[in-house]
Amino acid sequence: MYEGLCLGIESTADDFGVGIVSFDGEILANVNDVYIPERGGIHPREASRHHANVAGKVIAEAFKRAGVKPKEISIIAFSQGPGLGPCLRVGATVARALASYLNKPLVGVNHCLAHIEIGRMINRVRDPVTLYVSGGNTIVSAFEAGRYRVFGETLDIAIGNCLDVFAREAGLRSEPGKPLGAVIEELASRGRRLVPLPYTVKGMDLSFSGLLTAAVNLLREGKYPLEDLCFSLQEIAFSMLTEVTERALAHTEKREVLLTGGVAANKRLQEMLRVMAEEHDARFSVVPKEYATDNGVMIAWAGILCYKYGLTTSIERSFVKLKWRLDDVEVPWFEG
Ligand code: AMP
Ligand code: MG
Repeated sequence: MYEGLCLGIESTADDFGVGIVSFDGEILANVNDVYIPERGGIHPREASRHHANVAGKVIAEAFKRAGVKPKEISIIAFSQGPGLGPCLRVGATVARALASYLNKPLVGVNHCLAHIEIGRMINRVRDPVTLYVSGGNTIVSAFEAGRYRVFGETLDIAIGNCLDVFAREAGLRSEPGKPLGAVIEELASRGRRLVPLPYTVKGMDLSFSGLLTAAVNLLREGKYPLEDLCFSLQEIAFSMLTEVTERALAHTEKREVLLTGGVAANKRLQEMLRVMAEEHDARFSVVPKEYATDNGVMIAWAGILCYKYGLTTSIERSFVKLKWRLDDVEVPWFEG
């Protein structure tokens, strides 16, 4: 028997995910259904329609894989923000319905915090500088004085978005199991020449929109092979990320570096950060792909941490928070 079980729902962007996790951290189910647009980027309304369509199926599958019945669940957690409004609302609605029907506590979880906490749990990391890089977020953070402070972040678009837009401009297509960033990575591995592109770090913050525009312009000029452009885009963008992470590490004097988010799957980014971390005698770890990209397990685990500290969410306060910042959240459970 389990001391308790949490069902977590993730729906901030293109993924609808459900995880079931025990209070002591055993992962019983991790089911995900990703919305792939026919063309262009994520359309929030269409993505939310996808989530509403698959929610029942994904939840049923999670119960089946976990081998537990709905009434055995102790708490329901959901991604309350930040993210796309229509997508967040589907997850919140499903979570409210489940919590009311089962008469269980509801916990609204900060999505960025969940990414860090699942990494700390799975990778057995204590007190890292975390680089969280995904389709919608680019954040360098570390714990200081009760919260995960944001040391650096993007001033415009997220790194994953930058790679995805460039890929679409180049006519590349994603497939299930092979997102656009992975398609770029494959092409980049065959690139040889470093084409000059703008490198933009402002203080501790990053900007990718100028880099994207310059890369797209070079693509349209057709002067360089696509492989070289993918290679250069990665080299420049990942160097920027590594620089800011390194400065946060030097400033905080932490001994661990954690890489997470969908872009964490990239081997070249991993390599740059590993080399940097080694130079600072810091331990480097990468969250495994299924828990680094958006997933319900991380929401369930963060929900458990909140619940253990009495941080539940009443139905009245369960409205979604589109711009909810990581550094707005208190982290009372943290022990470095
Ligand atoms: P997430 O927002 O966490 O669901 O992650 C999705 C983002 O990760 C998208 O922008 C993907 O293109 C990106 N991504 C996935 N795999 C890779 C990879 N191997 N290299 C770079 N980016 C990737
Ligand atoms: Mg996603």
